[in-house]
Amino acid sequence: AHLARIEAVDEKVNAFLHVDREGALARARAVDAKRARGEELGPLAGVPLALKDIFTTEGVPTTVGSKILEGWIPPYDATVTRRLKDADVVVLGKTNMDEFAMGSSTENSAYGPTRNPWDLTRIPGGSGGGSSAALASHQAPLAIGTDTGGSIRQPAAVTGTVGVKPTYGGVSRYGMVAFSSSLDQGGPCARTVLDAALLHEVIAGHDPMDSTSIDAPVPPVVAAARDGNVQGLRVGVVKELGGEGYQAGVMRRFTESVELLRELGAEIVEISCPSFDRALAAYYLIAPSECSSNLARFDAMRYGLRVGDDGGHSAEEVTSLTREAGFGPEVKRRIMLGTYALSSGYYDAYYGSAQKVRTLIKRDFDAAFGKVDVLVSPTTPTTAFPIGERADDPMAMYLADLCTIPANLAGNAAMSLPCGLAPEDGLPVGLQIIAPAMADDRLYRVGAAVE
Ligand code: GLN
Repeated sequence: AHLARIEAVDEKVNAFLHVDREGALARARAVDAKRARGEELGPLAGVPLALKDIFTTEGVPTTVGSKILEGWIPPYDATVTRRLKDADVVVLGKTNMDEFAMGSSTENSAYGPTRNPWDLTRIPGGSGGGSSAALASHQAPLAIGTDTGGSIRQPAAVTGTVGVKPTYGGVSRYGMVAFSSSLDQGGPCARTVLDAALLHEVIAGHDPMDSTSIDAPVPPVVAAARDGNVQGLRVGVVKELGGEGYQAGVMRRFTESVELLRELGAEIVEISCPSFDRALAAYYLIAPSECSSNLARFDAMRYGLRVGDDGGHSAEEVTSLTREAGFGPEVKRRIMLGTYALSSGYYDAYYGSAQKVRTLIKRDFDAAFGKVDVLVSPTTPTTAFPIGERADDPMAMYLADLCTIPANLAGNAAMSLPCGLAPEDGLPVGLQIIAPAMADDRLYRVGAAVE
């Protein structure tokens, strides 16, 4: 049924870069056969899922939305991919994304933009717009995204779906193509809080293949999602994330959600996190710096595209020609910014300062979590904007992640879930919940309460 749905609507939405029809059917049949033999089934047996094209899939193309990896077939599965298979999930295919996960609209994909199912003239968010659009258009009930600065939560917000960035280190990064290694985190996307929790439990947990993976039990996310009791829970409203400059309908739905939490027995406290005003600036130094280092591996020798390999060019020229042809403008911009910020003479002024700001943001969170159990804010300042509106204005695009970036810089867990439609445009609004590291279960408790 989901393959038929993809066939019927994805021409318009463009959520998938690759539909693995044969592979999906084979897996579904294998699950049926297992059931017929009376074997024990995985926890999500037979449930279809849309996988962001940033996770390696053995034998199935993985492009990261880039021309530079066109035609590359990975020889191995990412840990997330492997765990999905072990849970008997049916992976339908790979979803569209901003190239190398750099963007907030999926317009930076080398394979054309994804469209928001709520209004096909608008963006579905990014970088994981393919995954969220697949959920919103009922092409898949579950999806996987990655969140470096908001790429799970912002697409969830603008498509009316649920997205969770687990605690940094909570889900393995092995086989997840690196953008900014100290920020990147894979996580679950779904249409309900409980669905997201069930998926979270399957993909999370220690992995010896990722040195930053946390060796501790997965927080009890499913139990929390089933419970949803917020009686006596202390909820902090972040003063710096909201108010002036935010769309009126977004603020209205956010305020209503806070009121609902109060009615359900939560204690509401206003919290100030003064360093959050510097988060965006710090992020746009740290993320490009790490990207400039990570993307050095795309040298035309190891993977995918190779241009100028005709006997008339040196190895260095082949690398250069391949990068020129294979990377899009936003990726080139970030590599240049990052290389500059890391260069000797500028390192302390830019990268060093950004790391100090990162520490201040972490301290703001630590102080806040001394007073409250979770923090809340709108996920995004506005609802989905029209395709093309911010495409030529990187600064305007970067503002889409104003509220989501602080949690990445500190490594905390955070969720976005739908909290109604903005009255002025009828488009979905997202509520963001942030919890301390390894307290991911609190997101699901609060999410289940307001859902
Ligand atoms: N939009 C942000 C960026 O462009 C975040 C992307 C992400 O989380 N992968 O960097």
